[in-house]
Amino acid sequence: MSGFVYDFVDGHKDLKDLLGGKGANLAEMTRMGLPVPPGFTITTEACRAYLRTGAMPPGLLAEVEEHLRAMQVAVGKTFGDPADPLLLSVRSGAKFSMPGMMETILDIGLNDMTVAGLARRSGDERFAWDSYRRLVQMFGRTVFDVPAEAFQAELGDRHESELSAGQLGDLVHAYQKVFEGHTGRPFPQAPHEQLFLAIGAVFRSWNAERAVLYRRQERIPQDLGTAVNVMAMVFGNRGEDSGTGVAFTRDPATGRRGSYGDYLRNAQGEDVVAGIRNTMPLSELATVDPASHAQLESIMQRLEERYRDLCDIEFTIENGRLWMLQTRVGKRTPAAAFVIAAQLVDEGVITLDEALQRVSGEQLAQLMFPSFDDESAPPPLTTGVPAAPGAAVGAVVFDSAAAVAATGPVILVRRETNPDDLPGMIAAQGVLTARGGKTSHAAVVARGMGKTCVCGAEEIRIGPDSFTVGGTTVHAGEVISIDGTSGRVYAEPVPVHPSRVVRFFEGELSAGADPLLCAVQRLMEHAGRVARLEVHANADTGPDALRARRFGATGVGLCRTEHMFLGERRVLVERLILAETDAERDEALAALLPLQRADFQQLFAAMDGLPVTVRLIDPPLHEFLPPLEELTARVARADALGEDAGHAGVLLNAVRRMHESNPMLGLRGVRLGLVVPGLFGMQVRAVAQAAAACAAAGGDPRPEIMVPLVATAQELEIVRAEAEAVLASVPGVPPVRIGTMIEVPRAALTAAQIAETAEFFSFGTNDMTQMTWGFSRDDVEGAFFGRYLELGVFATSPFESLDADGVGELVRLAVERGRATRPALTVGVCGEHGGDPASVRFFHTAGLDYVSCSPFRVPIARLEAGRAAV
Ligand code: ADP
Ligand code: MG
Repeated sequence: MSGFVYDFVDGHKDLKDLLGGKGANLAEMTRMGLPVPPGFTITTEACRAYLRTGAMPPGLLAEVEEHLRAMQVAVGKTFGDPADPLLLSVRSGAKFSMPGMMETILDIGLNDMTVAGLARRSGDERFAWDSYRRLVQMFGRTVFDVPAEAFQAELGDRHESELSAGQLGDLVHAYQKVFEGHTGRPFPQAPHEQLFLAIGAVFRSWNAERAVLYRRQERIPQDLGTAVNVMAMVFGNRGEDSGTGVAFTRDPATGRRGSYGDYLRNAQGEDVVAGIRNTMPLSELATVDPASHAQLESIMQRLEERYRDLCDIEFTIENGRLWMLQTRVGKRTPAAAFVIAAQLVDEGVITLDEALQRVSGEQLAQLMFPSFDDESAPPPLTTGVPAAPGAAVGAVVFDSAAAVAATGPVILVRRETNPDDLPGMIAAQGVLTARGGKTSHAAVVARGMGKTCVCGAEEIRIGPDSFTVGGTTVHAGEVISIDGTSGRVYAEPVPVHPSRVVRFFEGELSAGADPLLCAVQRLMEHAGRVARLEVHANADTGPDALRARRFGATGVGLCRTEHMFLGERRVLVERLILAETDAERDEALAALLPLQRADFQQLFAAMDGLPVTVRLIDPPLHEFLPPLEELTARVARADALGEDAGHAGVLLNAVRRMHESNPMLGLRGVRLGLVVPGLFGMQVRAVAQAAAACAAAGGDPRPEIMVPLVATAQELEIVRAEAEAVLASVPGVPPVRIGTMIEVPRAALTAAQIAETAEFFSFGTNDMTQMTWGFSRDDVEGAFFGRYLELGVFATSPFESLDADGVGELVRLAVERGRATRPALTVGVCGEHGGDPASVRFFHTAGLDYVSCSPFRVPIARLEAGRAAV
């Protein structure tokens, strides 16, 4: 019969969809012959039916009764028997672990009659009344929402553990009155009614507000429902030879081998995690109860063998007898994930390929952020939502302008942020807000920029030039520290440690005997062996390229030449823009040529023997002029003083003339090259001369020239002809490949024609995302992305993770059409997505040759390229 209820002996660990994680694993342990109290699981299907209709699905309760009868036989006790009652726990357990989000009720089956039977049978009156008061309390809270404080008020400042049996009996009666006062009905005495009500309450706890919120944050689907596990109670609160504990088969913080856990004597259920009394470390159990300890150790070993991974467990000892109550593959820190994966390979449990699946690029990214030293950090001032990881220290500023004006590092503190705060966010080391969660403006934008952010620190009250938390006031200019990984805020500077993993990649540290570094090294090496995608870096300078190379990049996938036009060189670009005659323009270009040549020479030397893809200038030229507002103000000031505005006036005219309503869709990229004579030619000449010089010096430069924003083959043909003429005119130039960015949707669609002229494609997925969705990144991230994420329109920003369904389809299509024309076409990607783990996996499946990303993301992309291939 395939019904709503599975006995523990009938399930197994791969039935998590149906039985939830807890139920599937209880079944697995039962199959393994471990000491699990008898029980059964009500499926998630039953829960979904209940939540749909608001009533128990037909036949469910009869099935429960049937399984209960079998359980009574197995235990040798009867539910509701006044002489020797069977007691039950009713436990939630969804497919994905949602710690503490849903409900569990213990000691079901106790009433005014059975409590006496339990006392007589156990010979322990205190234990019986303690169990009964737990039931009234948990049942009241969970099934009827009686506020916890109402029970607490009866207890006063006493602690249950100090009360005698008689006092506990009085407490039960007081709790029953509280129950009746709040619900208008007496505490249910019928055990079956208790059981059915409890099952319904656990079903409903799936939709508890905190559970819904948790799932939204963790991206767990809202429609899965929870299973309900009904099992015989075992008692850790039966004296000093009893107790309850939690344990891990390895240290989940560091990955160190050897079990690790906490045990609490004479306690039940969640007393351990609640931290009401002092627990003892698991190792001490070896002295207190050596037999149970030894049995537990051997069970943990068997569980690890079965699950082939770190497991965590809950157990209870009743009068010296060990019972297993829960296990699962345990959560762990990113460092532990690497260490454990490598250990399991050493132990012959998993292969290196599997080890790669046990870690992720996100975890590696976490390990590459600088961090505070938790041991020496002071107590935090307050804690908010950890929204974007990292450790930032700086002086407090309260508005964007102050952040921009500051000379040293600052933390921008705002109630919440909006698009006006963008310049300040860019200038600041980190952002702290009092309002908003992980999808707030501050959080979304900071993550996009890779800035540390703590948001929703609700205890903070922000004034005009200070903020307070409780009695502490922090003024503008005072230094604070924020931890975007934990959400902690410190009212003082805290020393920041550079990441050990980064220092290792930099070559400053050797792995030596450090277990984390050894594990990282091993898994990175394996990723490199199996990966099909290469990883290049976006780098504009020699030092950047050198770092990228140390981090494992095998080329530069994007050199943004416009970055070479900044700083003092701006005036030269200005001259180019303002040139009125050919002679003036040629002069300006001639002044830029040697500067670009020197930059390229550095870059080629740093990447000697590896490809360097040079993108010709991309942004609109007026980006190199001062902003319109600034010039207007300067000219107005001069006018007011009756002075001649001079150069500012000339610039203002140019800016007005060049003004575009949608610069992103205006005169930029290849269009500039076709409109401004000599501009691309100068850049190509600089590349050619630099390459010739490097080759003459014995180097092996491998330059490639990439044309941005091409939409049609004709554009590329014109640029190519000009570039080839320039290359031919410089003696000693090694072969230079010429290709194009694919970022305009039309280019993707006409890839077959474009590939006639292009030797390679590189997807510019930032622009392609903007143009495919029809929104500009600069305008929308703060404006409505938070709302879109909240509404579930998308699960992550399409600028963070490639939109595989839409933009990805264009990528696939362009690869296919391009390669149909030119089978040897090299295809890569150079947008921010090149360093995003999920996107890297997509590019692997789309058949790209390489991804290119910022130097710091190179190791992450390399790891993911390996993971994608196994
Ligand atoms: P959570 O999922 O929040 O951990 P659990 O269902 O695991 O909730 O139960 C809460 C506590 O009650 C745990 O400490 C668990 O070990 C304990 N518990 C659950 N069922 C039993 C039982 N049958 N006998 C004794 N203790 C139990
Ligand atoms: Mg549990």
